[in-house]
Amino acid sequence: MTDCIFCKIIKSEIPSSKVYEDEHTLAFLDINPVTKGHTLVIPKQHCTDIFDMKEEDAKAVMATAKKVASAVFHGLNASGVNLLNSNKKAAGQEVFHYHMHIIPRYENDGVRMFPHEKYKETDFKMTAERIKSNL
Ligand code: 5GP
Ligand code: ZN
Repeated sequence: MTDCIFCKIIKSEIPSSKVYEDEHTLAFLDINPVTKGHTLVIPKQHCTDIFDMKEEDAKAVMATAKKVASAVFHGLNASGVNLLNSNKKAAGQEVFHYHMHIIPRYENDGVRMFPHEKYKETDFKMTAERIKSNL
């Protein structure tokens, strides 16, 4: 896509710090890291989010994410790693080319992820049914 910033990174039309590349995927450092070494893995074929992504690209991205997560974990002496992918504006997506975040984590690094809510028993069952009926 011509005005997609991540497509421009793939084509090296704008600079980035690439750490891994293969036929279907690219991994590069996030310009505004949660912690240093925060890396993004993207499919080379443009798709907006998980919903329009081809299954082969999803597999390729996960294979690259596994490889890069291990390199981030060992190479940066991290104590943990988060993999995170946001889909649609309501979920916090800001760049509309699918990407998986790989975020190195450390004990007491102060990074806070999501707050949690509680289910009532009926909601618990109904929520599972609504998901299952769409599979
Ligand atoms: P999102 O909020 O869509 O899940 O994440 C988008 C991520 O892309 C952000 O973490 C942001 O820092 C990163 N980002 C946005 N523009 C650029 C860019 O031009 N270069 C790089 N390397 N990262 C970018
Ligand atoms: Zn793109």
